[in-house]
Amino acid sequence: MTRVGIGYDSHRFIEGRPLVLGGLTIPHGRGLAGHSDADAVAHALTDAILGAAGAGNIGQLFPDDDPQWKDADSMELLRTAHELVRGRGFVVAQADLTVITELPKLGPHLGAMGVALAQRLGLAAGSVNVKAKTNEGMGFIGRGEGLAVIAVALLEAR
Ligand code: MG
Repeated sequence: MTRVGIGYDSHRFIEGRPLVLGGLTIPHGRGLAGHSDADAVAHALTDAILGAAGAGNIGQLFPDDDPQWKDADSMELLRTAHELVRGRGFVVAQADLTVITELPKLGPHLGAMGVALAQRLGLAAGSVNVKAKTNEGMGFIGRGEGLAVIAVALLEAR
């Protein structure tokens, strides 16, 4: 049996924070605003995995008004969500993500991001694919106000 889930996340760029995506700190003048480390890649994938299992969403599991998750390592939240889903008899078979941002150019980091995500989920390298594209200058992403991530995860019964 397989199940599929989709996840979406967006965060605003702000000064004075590191840019953390897929567990990697990426050189850039600005980071992302958020209660946790604001890793939108980890957040979108977490929601895709939870959605596929019918296990709610990241905000229910890790409320952003709970001091426990202040500056949290979102890759650890991702791992925790996968553990929850494993407990329900599923494991991630494969995931695919698209990061939508004008800057920075993420091409050089995408391979390492996929490896980091697969590693944190305890999956074989190559199980998680990360792509990037711009929004062609349109909207809040086009103006460089923030970025967005879309993720799809396929779960298999264990
Ligand atoms: Mg988020």
